[in-house]
Amino acid sequence: MDLHEYQAKERFRAAGIPVPPGEVATTPAEAEKLAAKYGGAVVVKAQVHSGGRGKAGGVKLAKTPAEARGHAEKILGMQIKGLTVEKVLVTPAENIATEAYVGVLIDRAKQAPTFIVSAAGGIDIETVAKETPEKVRKLAVDPRYGLLPHQAYWLANFLYDDDALIKQATKIISQLYDSFVSSGASMAEINPMITTPSGEVKAIDAKMSIDDNELFRRLEVAAMRDVSAEPPAEAKARAAGLSFVKLDGNVGCCVNGAGLAMATMDLVKYYGGNPANFLDIGGSSNPDKVVAALEIITSDPNVKAILFNIFGGITRCDDVANGIIEAMRRIEIEPPIVIRLTGTNEEIALKILEKAGFPAYTSMDAVVEKAVQLASA
Ligand code: GDP
Ligand code: MN
Repeated sequence: MDLHEYQAKERFRAAGIPVPPGEVATTPAEAEKLAAKYGGAVVVKAQVHSGGRGKAGGVKLAKTPAEARGHAEKILGMQIKGLTVEKVLVTPAENIATEAYVGVLIDRAKQAPTFIVSAAGGIDIETVAKETPEKVRKLAVDPRYGLLPHQAYWLANFLYDDDALIKQATKIISQLYDSFVSSGASMAEINPMITTPSGEVKAIDAKMSIDDNELFRRLEVAAMRDVSAEPPAEAKARAAGLSFVKLDGNVGCCVNGAGLAMATMDLVKYYGGNPANFLDIGGSSNPDKVVAALEIITSDPNVKAILFNIFGGITRCDDVANGIIEAMRRIEIEPPIVIRLTGTNEEIALKILEKAGFPAYTSMDAVVEKAVQLASA
């Protein structure tokens, strides 16, 4: 689950990180009022789950409340990477001397939270890391001991020469680690961490992703979920109890079990196609789930063929077959569907589908190849 900047800033403040004040507005009038309250220049910032808002025109400096209103008018309703801006953060503008990058994320290869810091912050850190790796310092944290003080110092020392700045940054880096752990985050990032001309270090942007598996035991974090800001297909999938990840291909996949879903995607690739999604309908054969899955898959205009791959264990193939027929009755589906079912009650399922006019198969290779062909036809 991704947090908005203003929410990540709340988490950061709670950990003691110096973050300028700020409040959220949903209308231009509210933005104007907040700007008047802060007095002086403010920054109006789009709250969407996406980076690169600055480049997209979603971060604007306003010298007066009227100007803040004008920016909010433009930013609210704006599309950034396919997401509609519903809220803006209004925050007093800071004077910036330097911009650094500080981030911590789970590195699965190292099996440890890993810090990445760079004095070349503000812009795209991926580019900095790729083109000028010497400008980046990394550190894997042993989760048994947490981030040790000398490690936080070693990271901060890479960013600044001035002792007073290093001292402040050391503290912020430790606080960021605490916030990362106590939020159940998979990623927490300050970009930019600024220095002001008067020598203060502050976080003026904040980003955080929470591991969904941490939410059940962190209700205050779970309560930050903003369904309106999520891609509609993913919100719908979660509500229906499906695991769904949208991808860029054209073969819609509907599979039971995460392992089989991964294998199916591999096989689609093997036959020269590209999966449009990862979708695990789970262990149940509830027709409502099949309907929801088909609605989600067909809402993607890229999908040119739909592939069902069901291995019946606890899931009964006949239940899934009935679910597919029920789904066809309830919604209109344009792309061709190919179905593979095997396992518990497969004979009954094949008969049900045959009777309804849907050819179904038991070989995985054959249906995947067929789906790829149909999608590229
Ligand atoms: P992002 O583009 O989504 O990462 O949004 P950021 O909050 O990081 O803002 C992008 C850039 O806008 C920053 O790197 C700064 O250069 C600039 N910016 C953001 N807030 C302020 C501010 O308070 N004062 C000034 N002068 N610039 C700011
Ligand atoms: Mn940023």
